[in-house]
Amino acid sequence: MTRPLRATIDLPALRGNFAVARQRASDANLWAVIKANAYGHGLLRVAETLEDLADGFALLDLDDAVALREAGFRQPLLLLEGFFEADELPLYAAYGLTPVVHTLEQVEMLAGAALPARLPVYIKLNTGMNRLGLSAEEFHPALTALQTTSCVAAITLMTHFADADQERGIEWQMAGFEESTRGCDDPVSLANSAALLRFPVTCRGWARPGIMLYGSSPFPQDESAESLGLRPVMTLSSRLITVQELDAGDRVGYGGTFTADRPMRIGVVACGYADGYPRHAPSGTPMLVEGRRTRTVGRVSMDMITVDLEGIPDAGIGSPVVLWGEGLPVDEVAAAAGTVSYELLCALTPRVPIIEKA
Ligand SMILES: *Cc1c(COP(=O)(O)O)cnc(C)c1O
Repeated sequence: MTRPLRATIDLPALRGNFAVARQRASDANLWAVIKANAYGHGLLRVAETLEDLADGFALLDLDDAVALREAGFRQPLLLLEGFFEADELPLYAAYGLTPVVHTLEQVEMLAGAALPARLPVYIKLNTGMNRLGLSAEEFHPALTALQTTSCVAAITLMTHFADADQERGIEWQMAGFEESTRGCDDPVSLANSAALLRFPVTCRGWARPGIMLYGSSPFPQDESAESLGLRPVMTLSSRLITVQELDAGDRVGYGGTFTADRPMRIGVVACGYADGYPRHAPSGTPMLVEGRRTRTVGRVSMDMITVDLEGIPDAGIGSPVVLWGEGLPVDEVAAAAGTVSYELLCALTPRVPIIEKA
């Protein structure tokens, strides 16, 4: 037996989740967001699986966009942070890539470029997230400059929501967007997964769903992925590699952060933080052993995690374990670990073998 840890990627579930996005977004076009190695699921794998469904792919790295073109993908590719230096622009032109333009410096770089082809561009307005985007004052001069720049083709107006999954919602940002873009008839791109699901008004032009495609809820505290019709795409599974019998008072793992209050059986799972499981997941983080829900005990170590076998008397060496995915939503593991599913999925490390479920 080789080390039993696996990440199984359920390709039909990915397609099914895309269909949910398609149905909820009415007639908006859909970028499938595949940044960060498609949220840990594999850039090319996800692009191939969604090739006939997505209207385009949104990502971050120029190298990844070039790799997609070299692999034969012909649909629009949106680079979410745009270009960083003017010397990247010839590659944008050669490969027909769409940059997000979010600074005046980028506008100037475009104005100064001599390119063999015109680029479609997204111009991004900062409506209150205060991360990327032109200010309301910068927006109109930048738009005018882009409209008169010879190497710029179609322009799309974009913003990004900070609170689409929260109480505060999107109206406060929509007001600023409407005000700054009044009179413009260019297409728009607004919605991430949370906005797409909660605010149909944002599903105009080109929506940008990411996390929902991977089967996770953008607002797990309010609605589970399952209730949204989303299925887990990644299942991280392993097996018990040994079992320990503890007496009351025995402690487990580095630092002995968990102490048995009675005789206990615990299992040792082949998975640790070097595989991407969060080290900060405390004792009590949910896990499935033999399909039964139990909890971690003690600290997560580099290659192993210890798990309570109370109530699972048949569990022994070789028993199957699910760390997240089918039967145990990654959103629940993330909540127990004080983080979000995005972080867990992206953190999967290259040493974990991937199995595709077709
Ligand atoms: C990551 C990202 C998205 C997708 O967000 P999800 O919450 O994963 O749906 C959309 N737009 C931009 C600009 C992003 O950076």
